[in-house]
Amino acid sequence: MPQQPARILVVEDETHLAQGLLFNLQADGFEVEIAGDGETALAALAKNDPRFDAVLLDVMLPGKDGFTVARELREKQNYVPVLMLTARGRPEDVLKGFAAGADDYLPKPFDLSILLARLNSLLRRMAWHSAPSSPEQVIEDQPKFEFAGRCIDFEALELTGPEKHIHLTLMEADFLRYLVRNQGRIIPRKELLEQVWRVREDTDTRAIDNFVVRLRRYIEDEPTNPMYLKTVRGVGYRFLPAGE
Ligand code: CA
Repeated sequence: MPQQPARILVVEDETHLAQGLLFNLQADGFEVEIAGDGETALAALAKNDPRFDAVLLDVMLPGKDGFTVARELREKQNYVPVLMLTARGRPEDVLKGFAAGADDYLPKPFDLSILLARLNSLLRRMAWHSAPSSPEQVIEDQPKFEFAGRCIDFEALELTGPEKHIHLTLMEADFLRYLVRNQGRIIPRKELLEQVWRVREDTDTRAIDNFVVRLRRYIEDEPTNPMYLKTVRGVGYRFLPAGE
């Protein structure tokens, strides 16, 4: 069966950059639409016809910036994969982007080959999450993980629990998957940043705490007094699915 080309929304106000991306992505077989500002992007994504498979979202935009666009998208329960384009040397932007709901990031300026690799990896991650699992995947990773009356469904990107039904972003799902794989072990913040977020710069790792605060709202009975996702002071986190 011939595959439909993936459809990408490029959100970038600098015309020469947007046109360059359009040209190169089309040459690589993608269908591309351009939005020059955040409002236009949100309108295009609300319409979503035909469906967008991913968004390349610049941070610096006139009016609503990229963070606001990502946050509003997620608030509207739109979980299209978002690759955020950040300024080089601003790791705090990366963390802000993830907190807003981005799934990956790329610092500007970037090599086109890196952009294509990241974009394809994002599309693969999405396909992996939404496709039924193949036997070899099940051996390494269960599609579902149950603990304490909750169920994380890594394929449907859903978390269900007592009185809760939450759709997860790719990054939230990847983060939870990493916790599940490393359950019981103390995971340093730096490791989470490197392994899950792929942030290698010397970042203020406390910023990861904001992300954890959100996850705790999903999985804890009392998010301020966590039973399952524990803070190990000065080091990182520990996931204890059976509770303390
Ligand atoms: Ca821009």
